[in-house]
Amino acid sequence: MQMMIADQFLESVSGERIQINNPATGTACGEVPAGGGEDVDFAVQAALDAFTPWATLPNSRRGGLLYRCAELIRREADRIALILTTEQGKPLREAKDEVYGAAAVFEYYAGSASLVSSGYADRLPRYGYGIVQRRPLGVCGAIIPWNMPVLIAAWKIGAALVTGNTLVLKPSSKAPMAVLALGEVMKRSGLPGGVLNIVTGSGNLVGDPLISHPEVKKISFTGGMETGRHIAGVAARTMKRVTLELGGNDPMIVCSDVDPVAVAEAALLLRLYNCGQICTSPKRLIVEDEVYEAFVTHLKRRISEVVIGDGTDPSSMIGPLNSEEVRSSVEHAVWRLGDEGAEVIMGRIPDTLPRKGFFCLPALVTGCDGDSPVLQEEIFGPVIAVINAGDSDEAIDIANNTRYGLGASVWTQKIEVAERLAEGLEAGIVWVNQHMKLPPEVPFGGVKGSGSGRENGLAFIEGYTEEKTILISR
Ligand code: NAD
Repeated sequence: MQMMIADQFLESVSGERIQINNPATGTACGEVPAGGGEDVDFAVQAALDAFTPWATLPNSRRGGLLYRCAELIRREADRIALILTTEQGKPLREAKDEVYGAAAVFEYYAGSASLVSSGYADRLPRYGYGIVQRRPLGVCGAIIPWNMPVLIAAWKIGAALVTGNTLVLKPSSKAPMAVLALGEVMKRSGLPGGVLNIVTGSGNLVGDPLISHPEVKKISFTGGMETGRHIAGVAARTMKRVTLELGGNDPMIVCSDVDPVAVAEAALLLRLYNCGQICTSPKRLIVEDEVYEAFVTHLKRRISEVVIGDGTDPSSMIGPLNSEEVRSSVEHAVWRLGDEGAEVIMGRIPDTLPRKGFFCLPALVTGCDGDSPVLQEEIFGPVIAVINAGDSDEAIDIANNTRYGLGASVWTQKIEVAERLAEGLEAGIVWVNQHMKLPPEVPFGGVKGSGSGRENGLAFIEGYTEEKTILISR
């Protein structure tokens, strides 16, 4: 595949390419250009050239274009989803969910176009009157990870474009092809050249020139905490705005009044979605005493029934991890939890499991210590870690015992318990009797080490525009 710059599909200036591997086979499934600084310069210039005509369109026209994109994305969902499964590893039905989710995000932003409006202040006796214009920032940059690339790209593209900005987007080199397919579909929907540019390549060679480029006014980043720290530092030198959506270590608190079997089943399905590679996956299940045994007993039975296999096989409940690097870090974490004294039960290896590929058996780890250093960090894989808490006060202490603060959930039928725990949890979003749901209508982002700034909801208006006041006296 090729990069998308201005109204063209291009190779990189260097002519070099990056091989993309299918995580289910460990073998090549495609190639993309290995971009560099000159490609970034070219893309930023294309975005600058496209900016004024795009920014001066009526909001409703930009919204209308996003609706058309959503329609075509839905029509081409099967094709984009297959590319996503092939390069990322997730089961095809999850890849389709993600592509449909991206279409819904574009519909949300299309429908919100009219909310991006200017203000007016009359009756300022000593000054006359004031007009407060809301203006786009200019050329924005977006850098995204490999775990949910199509959905996360849609968050950033929808918000930047509907507010009148143009965008240069860098996907991860571990899953860039579905994002390129998304861009190509958007272009066919009528998006003018240069409004959205996609430059493929490494973090150092494409990401760094993008975050340090003087013409780029904002960077919206989703990815790991260390990369986020680096990006915030570099972007500050050119006074860019930065939004950081970083990792998570979400607690899921299971209170004593719930049906433990039903909630354990929900926890299993949520934790294994995308093979556990989701920032808001419930990574620590904190279960109160009274329901702990029944909760764990259900999981012990179910872990052996989880079917692992190639994401294109409809019987696979989970696919491989995305890379050898992720697999070894997950296996290492499970090994360390066992060393700390937790009980580890591995899932079953099916006879049909391909020999190659980055498959990682799901692990149920029970009796974990709430203070475990391993559990204070993000485990990005199919590890169901269960911690026993005496009561809800202890549960909340364990939940907050991490440097992350992305999401959290409380499972209870008692509204007063839900309210009290939701109040005390250090997280950007708290779910009650659900987890990991992110409709585009609500703001999303983390506290503590999980980042700063918000995406979605109405946060996009502040995030992608600036106000200019004109005071008029006659
Ligand atoms: P990563 O930080 O390694 O990479 C993310 C992106 O940053 C990639 O495109 C990468 O090429 C780029 N990058 C790397 N070094 C760079 C540099 N020096 N300059 C500029 N760009 C650079 O993260 P990952 O492994 O792709 O993704 C996994 C992480 O993302 C996990 O921690 C996960 O929790 C997090 N995540 C967060 C959210 C959220 O919304 N909060 C969503 C999904 C994933």
